[in-house]
Amino acid sequence: MPCLTYREALSARLDGEPLGMPARELDEHLSACPRCAAWAAAAEQVTRRARLAPAPPVPDLTASVLAALPRELPGARTAARARIAGTALRLVLLAVGVAQAALAGPVLVSGAGSMSAPVHLAHETAAWNLAVAAAFLAVAAAPRLASGALPFLGSFVALLLPVTLADLDAGHVHADRAAGHLLLLAGVLLVATTAWRGRRRGLPAAVADRSVTA
Ligand SMILES: [Zn+2]
Repeated sequence: MPCLTYREALSARLDGEPLGMPARELDEHLSACPRCAAWAAAAEQVTRRARLAPAPPVPDLTASVLAALPRELPGARTAARARIAGTALRLVLLAVGVAQAALAGPVLVSGAGSMSAPVHLAHETAAWNLAVAAAFLAVAAAPRLASGALPFLGSFVALLLPVTLADLDAGHVHADRAAGHLLLLAGVLLVATTAWRGRRRGLPAAVADRSVTA
């Protein structure tokens, strides 16, 4: 076999490719043919140098990549806006809760402002109104409680609104007292919005359940 065939096989070996002949045959020729052995040594050197050669220099793109990045990560602005809206919601709910407590508190203590209602009925109503105020304040302090408070608050308002409208119509209630219920309505709407925002954030059901029982 001509030397060229062995050198092709050697070249293939250096490249990690199939030799095209038994490896033993190639080794036997290398030990028998000094010219091919010298060629093999030189080829090995060249291959080694080529593999160890430093990588061609590449321009440092760090600055231009950093400059091309958006100033804010996508969604960061939306998230910040959502946080501000959430805080504003809680502050308004806090104000509504305080106002609701301010309306109900004095009645609970003195029975004043009860209009024509019997004293105990006025006390009982004031206790309910104060409890609603406490629920508003609790949700303002811990928004995760919103969905748990909603069944009670929602049904209270859903029942109170139609009877108040009917009582207004029939003259059973003064307009100013009926107007006080608007505060209740506002608070419940705020709690409902808070609960909706919490759901939208995709809280796992387990966390939502825990917040209800907490
Ligand atoms: Zn040879």
